[in-house]
Amino acid sequence: MKSYFRTEIAGMEGYVPGEQPKLENLCKLNTNENAFPPSPAVKRAIAELDWERLRRYPDPLADALRDKIAEVFGLKRENVIAGNGSDDILTMLFRCFTSPELPMACLYPTYSLYPELAKMQGAAVIPVPLAPRTFELPGDLLKRVEKANLLIITRPNAPTGNSFPLETMRELCRNFDGVVLFDEAYADFADDNCMEFVKEFPNVIVSRTFSKSYALAGLRLGFAVGSPELIAGMFKVKDSYNLDRMTQALGLAAFSDRAYLKECSEKIRTIRKDFTERLENLGFQVVPSQTNFVFAAPPDRDGERCFRALRDRAIIVRYFRGPETGDYVRITIGTPKEMDRVITALREIYANPG
Ligand code: PMP
Repeated sequence: MKSYFRTEIAGMEGYVPGEQPKLENLCKLNTNENAFPPSPAVKRAIAELDWERLRRYPDPLADALRDKIAEVFGLKRENVIAGNGSDDILTMLFRCFTSPELPMACLYPTYSLYPELAKMQGAAVIPVPLAPRTFELPGDLLKRVEKANLLIITRPNAPTGNSFPLETMRELCRNFDGVVLFDEAYADFADDNCMEFVKEFPNVIVSRTFSKSYALAGLRLGFAVGSPELIAGMFKVKDSYNLDRMTQALGLAAFSDRAYLKECSEKIRTIRKDFTERLENLGFQVVPSQTNFVFAAPPDRDGERCFRALRDRAIIVRYFRGPETGDYVRITIGTPKEMDRVITALREIYANPG
């Protein structure tokens, strides 16, 4: 049959989301969801939702939510835009800043959605390869990306979990002649973040999500902050009512509970530290993580074997092929009980090779 699709779309593979299997006794550690439930304030906000009001369209500007986000970061409403997950924020950014004439640059390896969005825009991708094993940035980063109109620094990075020095980031913002997006999906689990750069540099945007640290992947909410000029441009290309009433109300409740966010992220950092040590004791090489997952090379460097053997035990993780570095598995930080189960399984797997 004749293809009716634009050439860019016909040639695309499409983003492959993490699997959501329905196994009994499942230990689901493959999509970096939170180990704990959302704030109890979300439960209360659900009880307070007024079904009758669903008759009306939601606020297309999400002002109440944006005001609260602005207040917490010492910014103004004009500095903030909210989206249906941070994927929606990324879509807006690609619509605004990429085209066949305007390439984008991103790390490699990184979040695999970026190149897909670039293809939809017909935009070229300039890859910034990270160093084998350490996943540090190349020294000539600026030179490599000078033709890009949009540079995405995923910080901390996914799937590798590591971060990059703040001073290097400041240097980059100062010298890069384009828009820098810091994708901070995991920043609440990290030691530092780039939020303050928004006040210093007019070309910087920081995006965050409610899917990880707020334990609301099922809600679909993310936001970006930047200079009023950049944010106003993003408003032009967003879907009309991109955030429904419920998401705006529940998101506001979750965001307002700063104490819960802090406590929950701190718990995950503690479990991460303990789990990392236990993995290292089993002979895994673990990349220092600033996120709610770890990226680790199995003792035999065979990620697929590790993935399959865990899957046989109803533990779902992801694996990544590394031509230069050997394979890695990416394991989401779960509850202490889930981490015990992973360690017990790994002990079994690596005590019986083959
Ligand atoms: N950025 C990064 C780096 C991610 O890992 C993810 C989650 N897969 C996202 C953005 C998108 O998150 P969401 O759309 O759930 O907000």
